[in-house]
Amino acid sequence: MATPQKKKKRLKLEQWVKDQMWSESGGHCQNPDCRVDLLSFVKRKHIAELAHIIPASDDGPRSEDGTTLTEAERALPENIVLLCPTCHTVVDKAPDEYPPDALHEWKRMSEEARAIAHGTPLFQSRSSARSVIEPLLGANKAVFEEYGPADNLFDDSRADQWRKQVQATILPNSREILRLLAANRNLLTPEENAIVHKFALHIQQLEDRHTKGDWTPGSVRFPTEMTSIMEGDK
Ligand SMILES: [Zn+2]
Repeated sequence: MATPQKKKKRLKLEQWVKDQMWSESGGHCQNPDCRVDLLSFVKRKHIAELAHIIPASDDGPRSEDGTTLTEAERALPENIVLLCPTCHTVVDKAPDEYPPDALHEWKRMSEEARAIAHGTPLFQSRSSARSVIEPLLGANKAVFEEYGPADNLFDDSRADQWRKQVQATILPNSREILRLLAANRNLLTPEENAIVHKFALHIQQLEDRHTKGDWTPGSVRFPTEMTSIMEGDK
C-alpha cells in the first residue's frame, strides 16, 4: 500500500510518444462520447492530458491491473490515451467504471474514426486487406528485382534508376501499406504485428538514406515475412 508521504511519480514521456498520440487521436479527445477538439486547449495554453492507462507508479488509478508492466512499457503509446482535462479527471476518479480494457477500446475507436475520416479503408477480412496490400508489395518487389542493390550487379545507371524508383514507387507504396496495416491492426496476428514494426523501421531508414543521406550502418533489412502478410486465416 502507498504511504501518504510517497510522492506521486510522473513518468516523463518522450517526444515521439507525444507526437504519436497527437497523430493517433487526430487531435481530438479519445473518449468517444466527448471527442472535443483539443486545439482549443493548446491555444489557451492548457495542453491536452496524456493519461496513463496503467499509471506510472503503483499507487495510481488502475495500478492493480498492470502489475506485469515494466516502467518503460508504461511510457509507450500503447499505454497512453490522449484526453481533454475533463475526461482525464473523470476517468482517474472512477477507475472501476473505466478499466484498462475500456480505455484500450477508446484508443482503437479513435484510431478507427481517424482512419475513416482520412479515407483509409477498414477491411472486414484478412483476404480483402490482402487484395489491396498485395499489389503494392508486388510493385515494390518488381522494382527491387529490376534495380535494387545486388551483388555483382550494381553499375551507375542501375544505381540511378534505383534512387529514382525508391522515391517514385517504393516509399509511397510502403507508406500506403503501413497506413492500411495500422488502421486494420485488429486483423493482424501478434507475430505479424512484430513484422510490421520491423518493416516500418526498415522503411524509415530507407527514407532517411534517400532523403537525408543518412547512411548510418546497421540498418534493418526488408523482413521477407512481409511478402505473406495477411495471407491465410489469423
Ligand atoms: Zn474529453
